[in-house]
Amino acid sequence: MPETCPRGFDETLLSGAIDRELVQAAAQKVRIHLEDCAHCRALYKELTELREVAMSTTIHQPPDDQWREAPRGGVSKAGRIVGWLLAVAWLVIITAFGLYQGWQNTDGAFEKFLGFGGLGAVALLLGSVALDRWRTAKTDPYRGVEK
Ligand SMILES: [Zn+2]
Repeated sequence: MPETCPRGFDETLLSGAIDRELVQAAAQKVRIHLEDCAHCRALYKELTELREVAMSTTIHQPPDDQWREAPRGGVSKAGRIVGWLLAVAWLVIITAFGLYQGWQNTDGAFEKFLGFGGLGAVALLLGSVALDRWRTAKTDPYRGVEK
């Protein structure tokens, strides 16, 4: 089989046809040429297969891979867990200390409610977010794939 089309057909039109980028007249021209040119038929088939491989490679990647924060290595995973534990411990201690200080310096139930109701709500929200994150990390279906 010759390297190029024996009739000098513009081969960029073939990849254009596969990408569906051609206007109708050009697509028609490709179709007619493919019917009686074995060289371009083979090339078209090859290009189509290459395109399919490229497509399936893209699809088979985990779709949320780029959004995933989970570290890949064992060391960085351990570092992430320790970091989280330290951050949570720090937050709990700071919050407890702040609450204790505030409680000591606040008089009256209403003032206490004003000061600590919001803090309690924020703490609950942060806690539930942390819990969700912890559960997600535990049940991550891709966890351990790279081990
Ligand atoms: Zn041809």
